[in-house]
Amino acid sequence: MPLRQSVRLAGYLAKQRILHREKFPLLVELEPLFACNLKCAGCGKIAQPAALLKRRMPVEQAVAAIEESGAPMVSIAGGEPLMHPQIDEIVRQLLARKKIVFLCTNAVLLPRHLHRFTPHRNFAWMVHIDGLRERHDASVCRTGVFDQAVAAVRLAQGAGFRVNTNTTFFSSDSPADVVDVLDYLNDDLGVDNMQISPAYAYGKAPDQEHWLGVEQTRELFRKAFADGRRRKWRLNHSPLFLDFLEGKLDLACTAWAIPSYSLLGWQRPCYLLDDGYAGTYRELVETTDWSAFGRGNDPRCANCMAHCGYEPSAVFATVGSLRQSIRAAVGH
Ligand code: SF4
Ligand code: SF4
Repeated sequence: MPLRQSVRLAGYLAKQRILHREKFPLLVELEPLFACNLKCAGCGKIAQPAALLKRRMPVEQAVAAIEESGAPMVSIAGGEPLMHPQIDEIVRQLLARKKIVFLCTNAVLLPRHLHRFTPHRNFAWMVHIDGLRERHDASVCRTGVFDQAVAAVRLAQGAGFRVNTNTTFFSSDSPADVVDVLDYLNDDLGVDNMQISPAYAYGKAPDQEHWLGVEQTRELFRKAFADGRRRKWRLNHSPLFLDFLEGKLDLACTAWAIPSYSLLGWQRPCYLLDDGYAGTYRELVETTDWSAFGRGNDPRCANCMAHCGYEPSAVFATVGSLRQSIRAAVGH
């Protein structure tokens, strides 16, 4: 992330330490709707009842939830956020409150809606691209979406926006697939930063065959990151999280630091599981038995290496170590 944002995050972390807060959010996954214009095989979000798919979160509710949590960063997802009629207003109001905002999108609707947004130093698009043309179109179950996403990225870049990408990998991906798509996004498309994730085994997703196990994930990334490639890619992750993906170290889950707020409330315990909802972030933190979750504690967590559980753990380990802080600062 840009230096200015890293400094802000460091200040936020220092403040939590001074206030002796043990659990606090780094980033909220805000889902102001569940509806989407695609039906990806690996999606665990769109299998909601029809009445819920029609609902849109009011702007005031979205902003109040983020304010209550105190999080410095917000990732707006869904569903497809560009199907929310006031999504631009939600973004504007969060930026006015000095939040760092990422707007996740499959980019199909982006060209039609780009004029509603203005480039801002704390705003970035986060475009979903799971692979090169054939692989991405298979992942989103529609031909032509890769080309639409690439065209939308170029349009947004040309209009002066920061553009990041988010790529999810499945057991059908080889290390060469990982290398090819990251090389393309980094060198050819020239996006600002890239986020990567092993797919989480959503019980509600239509495709139940292609989830990665922990050892498969480690092998996939160990091979993909070999020969110094990891250093050249502009990955939007801390070095320790990438070490974690490669299996060089293990971390405990800290899902309370990247909570999810949707039309249903604060999701317990995380964006991926669904053990009920709390009315406020404070209630979520205080009424969840966090020791019951994470690998080794809950069978549903057994294969999870998702960033919502483990990137905060890597960030906390980084700021607690001078050596790791220097590594993060130089991007290795
Ligand atoms: S684009 Fe995102 S929200 Fe829409 S179906 Fe695909 S994974 Fe789900
Ligand atoms: S390990 Fe953590 S982030 Fe992953 S599913 Fe379990 S609680 Fe959620």
